[in-house]
Amino acid sequence: MFLSLRYSFTFLLTLLLTSPSFTISRTMVEDHTFSPPATKISITDHNTQSLNNAHIGSKIPGISEFKRYLSHFGYLPRQNNNTFSDEFDAILKFALIRYQQNLGLQVTGKLDFNTVSQMITPRCGVPDANLTPRNHHHHDHVHTTKNFVYFPGKPRWSRPMPMTLTYGFSRYNMIHSLSMKEIKEAFQRAFSRWASVIPVSFIEVSDDDEVEAADIKIGFYNGEHGDGEPFDGVLGVLAHSFSPEIGRLHLDAAETWAVDFRVTTSEVAVDLESVATHEIGHLLGLSHSSVKEAVMYPSLRPRDKRANLNIDDIKGVQSLYGSNPNFRSEWSLESDISANQGAEFGVKHLRLANSLIIMISLVHSLCTLC
Ligand SMILES: [Zn+2]
Ligand SMILES: [Zn+2]
Repeated sequence: MFLSLRYSFTFLLTLLLTSPSFTISRTMVEDHTFSPPATKISITDHNTQSLNNAHIGSKIPGISEFKRYLSHFGYLPRQNNNTFSDEFDAILKFALIRYQQNLGLQVTGKLDFNTVSQMITPRCGVPDANLTPRNHHHHDHVHTTKNFVYFPGKPRWSRPMPMTLTYGFSRYNMIHSLSMKEIKEAFQRAFSRWASVIPVSFIEVSDDDEVEAADIKIGFYNGEHGDGEPFDGVLGVLAHSFSPEIGRLHLDAAETWAVDFRVTTSEVAVDLESVATHEIGHLLGLSHSSVKEAVMYPSLRPRDKRANLNIDDIKGVQSLYGSNPNFRSEWSLESDISANQGAEFGVKHLRLANSLIIMISLVHSLCTLC
């Protein structure tokens, strides 16, 4: 585990050193005319050992960069001009503890290797600020199902059920490294994952007028694009979207978006379908989860795929919209029992998954009682 993390750390370090955007930002930093995006940590500037040893009162050049990053993602108050000191203070320690809790890391309150590695991993641009405190004495898998989170006020699309939401692609904000067909198919798969668990369906519209009026508008954008959350070039922030019922889903056009890693061989390729599924979760009202296997976990490494909904994602979205009747009948206790009696081999895997979830739910309820 440690070795693999160290490997990815070195890998990302290499990426940052070699990526064109990094070279540009470094040059501009040296010219003192440009402040690098708060969403990217330029790790080469930091001595990992001295960061790890930093304690309250330490002053280490570059600490301000970590404060700026934590501030951007909601762990420290945002400041005018983004000016932070290089002192490791108590507020930073508290912010690190919350960050480590929210990202499912070992809680040390330090800028340790795993924490810094997590910070340089590409992620969603939506802040984690609204994550709620949770019971940190639970470490088993059962309790991880409690970790889905809503946006403040628990907003959701407020139409009668079952509801249909329309979505459309902004014709003028597309990328050309993938075909329109590939992009649309990736999004269709992403939407259908959510639609299979809740009574919400999604219909694509394509006429300009219809797209203009669609509930959900999807587009690829470079840098500053009018919503105050500029994209930061290759890696760093990959995409962001808005809580209900704003319906905007923006992807960073600078990424090397991929639908098939056998075709897109770039080391910085990012799986479009995984990111699309994650961002649709935000559009529906889910915020970030600390469950690393969940689609709603905030980060995604290059060339990784995490598009299948986790129990945590499903429970989260169903508590907002209820269950899709088809989904419920497949997953209910009754159907599981009758299916076991029928002993049909073809649905064996589904049943195994059902049983596992039911067991988890039962243990979960028991634990809640005790
Ligand atoms: Zn996100
Ligand atoms: Zn945007």
